[in-house]
Amino acid sequence: MPGNKAVEYIGPGKVEVRTIDYPTLEVHDGPGVPRANVGRQCQHGVVLKVVASNICGSDQHMVRGRTTAPSGLVLGHEITGEVVEKGRDVEFIDVGDLCSVPFNIACGRCRMCKEGNTGVCLNVNPDRPGAAYGYVDMGGWVGGQAEYVMVPYADWNLLRFPDKAQAMEKILDLTMLSDIFPTGYHGAVTAGVTTGATAYIAGAGPVGLAAAHAAQFLGASVVIVGDMNRRRLGQARSFGCETVDLTEDATLPEQIEQILGVPEVDAAVDAVGFEARGHGQDADTEMPATVLNSIMEITRPAGKLGIPGLYVTGDPGGADEAAKTGSLSIRFGLGWARSLSLTTGQCPVMRYHRGLMQAILHDRTKIAKAVNAKVIPLEDAPNGYEDFDKGEACKYVLDPHGMLAGKSAA
Ligand code: NAD
Ligand code: ZN
Ligand code: ZN
Repeated sequence: MPGNKAVEYIGPGKVEVRTIDYPTLEVHDGPGVPRANVGRQCQHGVVLKVVASNICGSDQHMVRGRTTAPSGLVLGHEITGEVVEKGRDVEFIDVGDLCSVPFNIACGRCRMCKEGNTGVCLNVNPDRPGAAYGYVDMGGWVGGQAEYVMVPYADWNLLRFPDKAQAMEKILDLTMLSDIFPTGYHGAVTAGVTTGATAYIAGAGPVGLAAAHAAQFLGASVVIVGDMNRRRLGQARSFGCETVDLTEDATLPEQIEQILGVPEVDAAVDAVGFEARGHGQDADTEMPATVLNSIMEITRPAGKLGIPGLYVTGDPGGADEAAKTGSLSIRFGLGWARSLSLTTGQCPVMRYHRGLMQAILHDRTKIAKAVNAKVIPLEDAPNGYEDFDKGEACKYVLDPHGMLAGKSAA
């Protein structure tokens, strides 16, 4: 049986590549595994040989020590892989299939799954609704920044690519289906982006860039991306977005007015989350409610806010006592007065991934180029984490088996 090299969270600022057990169709005890999940049998699951697994801003929240993630947690929720073993109860997925794995783990049998809310499945995490691979408080499922990983409820969770050879040609685009492309798209859809809409996307990280690309795809007339990272703003401009530099003294409404002639947009997306920094002179200071408050201010009355940016229930590094339990100082009255509605939570990936896969396979979108996908070997994950943390304008794709060598975003 082959070994299994994997990326582990060691402690704040530190990840290492270590050898862990080869996966079986069972949940074993380990860091962060809820007692009630230990020994869980997964004959409905498969073992995947991981072809690509991406580093995400969500991983960074843990690696920066901003969550209660335990040391030894195997990271990785953005997984694309080939089936090498299947359980007795898997009917429609076969050994050899190349598949995208939604980062949300879902059972396909509970009320939430039946209603399409796979981000809050009731049967995969004994502690709360919703689960994910390699993530704090998400059920203890082992992460996929590894050579091999187990995926439960395979018939339900996996999206098989119709043609393996064609899929390998577009693999850097297809790897974004496990999370950020659907997540960015969900942000834009739930913000009400449609033909002709103007949109503001807070954050030019991979999720913000994916949301911006999705907003264009949905027909937005103008997409404005805001960040304080100039390289990332340059990346947003490279595919036709307008940008606002939030280190400047002009306020966000003023900068939007300079672009649109009015200080508001039809739709806004928070692709930043709870580690948000302030604007202008506060650009180096963490102010967790900044994005939420600013998008309430600049979205048209009766507009919608898409909030894929992550907010937590426990943050050891919170700016103040309230923030440590996820309580933020939000101007809810402003949102109420303007009749805004908002959508939070994990993106239910399955709602979008098939359509976005078709768009990729038929050359309707260049998501890998928009987010500047960059392949690195699994062994280089610690450097990838460090550079991503410094604000590199790219999306790191780990290549555990050297199957992506020489590939770059076309
Ligand atoms: P990232 O850390 O690479 O990007 C965040 C960007 O926000 C950075 O470039 C940062 O400079 C910028 N920023 C900070 N304060 C800002 C402000 N006030 N206004 C505008 N920009 C600001 O992360 P990412 O990978 O792009 O992910 C973004 C968020 O989306 C994270 O919170 C991540 O956890 C979350 N996420 C959620 C889901 C979901 O299903 N809901 C899925 C994936 C990621
Ligand atoms: Zn992710
Ligand atoms: Zn379910």
